[in-house]
Amino acid sequence: MSELIEHSRTPLLLTERKRVSVANNAAREILGEHMLGQDVRVAFRHPDAVALLDQSSSGTATVRGLVRRLDIWQINYKRLDANLGVIELVNQTAEADISRAHTDFVANASHELRTPLASVIGYIETLSDEDADYTPETRGRFFATVLSEARRLQSLISDLMSLSQVEAEKHDRPTGVIRLKELVEGASIDAAGPDRQHRLLIECHEDSTIVGEARQIEQVIRNLVDNALKYSGINETVVVSLDRAPSGDARLRVTDYGEGIAPEHIPHLTRRFYRTDPGRSRASGGTGLGLAIVKHIVERHKGRLDIDSEVGKGTVFTVRFPASEKAVDDVS
Ligand code: ADP
Repeated sequence: MSELIEHSRTPLLLTERKRVSVANNAAREILGEHMLGQDVRVAFRHPDAVALLDQSSSGTATVRGLVRRLDIWQINYKRLDANLGVIELVNQTAEADISRAHTDFVANASHELRTPLASVIGYIETLSDEDADYTPETRGRFFATVLSEARRLQSLISDLMSLSQVEAEKHDRPTGVIRLKELVEGASIDAAGPDRQHRLLIECHEDSTIVGEARQIEQVIRNLVDNALKYSGINETVVVSLDRAPSGDARLRVTDYGEGIAPEHIPHLTRRFYRTDPGRSRASGGTGLGLAIVKHIVERHKGRLDIDSEVGKGTVFTVRFPASEKAVDDVS
């Protein structure tokens, strides 16, 4: 019996008169070798687990902090007869984390959508008040606010849809073969728009070919270039460069000479709705989703995203994509 269960990835234990007589490898890894032969109540120690294993019938309990402080395990206890019992442990920590992240995301997204919507409704109500006598200038200002808030809603919805699509495709490897140079130049100019184009310095030293989906790579470039322009002075240059890293990977760098990012924020920047300065982000039309989208796309392309920044000096976002084995000539 012990050989049969030894290699199961599920921690399994057999008890005989409340003592652990067999514990497979997975169970020993989490509870320690020393619990073989021990009373189950001593082996588990946790009060909720002890309450379950002490009872005279089979049962199930969900226990928090059995092995580590925040983990969640489901303990299934089956009494086979008066002396023998089987204990199965199912780790539910990851499921609980996913479910929490999901709830947080829905709450954050609803909050982000509700704020501009409330503003649109408020202004429309004010404007439609027949008794109010607003000057054409004031009405114009109100309409401009309604328009900008409606645009904010539109960007939010468009980013939410992009994020959900990128997440849905996360495990499908892209199949297209694309040349980066043209894409980088086009998407950067696109992101800057006519008003900011003069601030761009595009240095594509080399064309690289990668396996990827053009639409998504364009989105990575657009989001990074837009951020670099947004978070640096209105006269500051942003450098977009494409070359080959020493490893042979295609390397895209977006460098700005803006305000920079404090080190404690850097590990969190790719989380949905994370902003170092929410007011500033919203005022410049940010949704807080741009870098989360970038991260997912880069992961799908088996690439890597690095962020180097110095407060007061500026920031460099570097994306590496594995270069395709295919020659540039193969691109149709
Ligand atoms: P947002 O829509 O707020 O720009 P992002 O996901 O694109 O959302 O970026 C998340 C946050 O990261 C931003 O709110 C900003 O605080 C910070 N950030 C991103 N790019 C830069 C940059 N180039 N310089 C300084 N801060 C940046």
